[in-house]
Amino acid sequence: GASELPTHFTLPSGDKIPSVALGVWQAPPNQVGDAVTAALKAGYRHIDGAWAYRNEDEVGKALKASGVPRDQVWLTSKLWNSFHAPEDVEPALDESLKALGVDYLDLYLIHWPIALKKGTNNEVDEALTANPYPTWQKLEELVDKGKVRNIGVSNFNIPRLRNLTANPLKYKPAINQVELSYWNPQPDLVKWAKENGLLLEAYSPLGSSDLVRETFNVPEVKEISRALSITPAQAIISWHVQRGTVVLPKSVTPSRVEENFHVRKLPDELFNKLEKAAQAHEPRRVVNPSKRYNLGYDIFDDDGGVIVPDEDDAGERSGTGSWRTG
Ligand code: NDP
Repeated sequence: GASELPTHFTLPSGDKIPSVALGVWQAPPNQVGDAVTAALKAGYRHIDGAWAYRNEDEVGKALKASGVPRDQVWLTSKLWNSFHAPEDVEPALDESLKALGVDYLDLYLIHWPIALKKGTNNEVDEALTANPYPTWQKLEELVDKGKVRNIGVSNFNIPRLRNLTANPLKYKPAINQVELSYWNPQPDLVKWAKENGLLLEAYSPLGSSDLVRETFNVPEVKEISRALSITPAQAIISWHVQRGTVVLPKSVTPSRVEENFHVRKLPDELFNKLEKAAQAHEPRRVVNPSKRYNLGYDIFDDDGGVIVPDEDDAGERSGTGSWRTG
């Protein structure tokens, strides 16, 4: 009813994606299986993983052991930066499928708008980074082959989304998975996504391990927790779903995994108060690899290395033209 939060959001494919997922970044291989087991037992039907998390084998084993049928659980993985070359995309997906022990994914994302040169760990392929369309076309092929049901991106800002969608896409990105937290609520991106039919997924929703304690100390979070007799984690996770985003809390502590699944609609007044407080301070971002890759710009800046098409000539573009670097 109207007093409940949505348990699912509907994507352009018609698929329904569960609104709360277990995130498994930094879940150690010897702990992730128990976390997945606890999640499935608590009622989660959505696991957010990635090739780069190095635990897809263990996630797959726990899934199999749970006895939950494949078609009852939503599985996401992500294409790592070193596999953006068109010929590398399908082999990379195949590795994830094999590790997970499944023959399709529900969602496959481009993990970062950063393409690395073949066989390197940190050398940026500038052309493919400025224009990921060749990579995207391969993802579209994977949909047509039945290996992935939905495709999307991660860590794309608005200029990069516009840059990609200026191409003649067969399938538009269904999802953009980005950092969204009390510290970095990104109201402009949330608004843009809503207007453009793009669903956002909130990563590091509790502020990641760096800021989780600070999140629980936010007065508005404490107030909700007290007023509704729920935990601070439940208050903040509920806020994310109420904002209209999928939320991906990570925990390897079974009791926390259980706790995090129980969301509820916040009274409008308390929701608005928390939203206002989140937007009132300077944004603080936790996850940003721009320096690690020596990009020379910030990957999240509006003019950080991306060519933005004019509104007038959408569709017309120069893939490797000069960069505006911020
Ligand atoms: P989260 O905001 O989910 O925070 C995780 C931290 O919070 C861990 O230290 C965890 O501890 C702790 N925690 C979780 N629940 C509770 C609770 N109820 N009470 C107290 N502490 C709690 O951050 P992440 O950065 O891990 O992000 C979540 C997920 O988002 C990732 O796992 C991944 O799936 C995705 N992600 C995607 C990225 C991308 O580039 N696309 C980047 C970053 C994240 P403990 O585990 O010890 O219980």
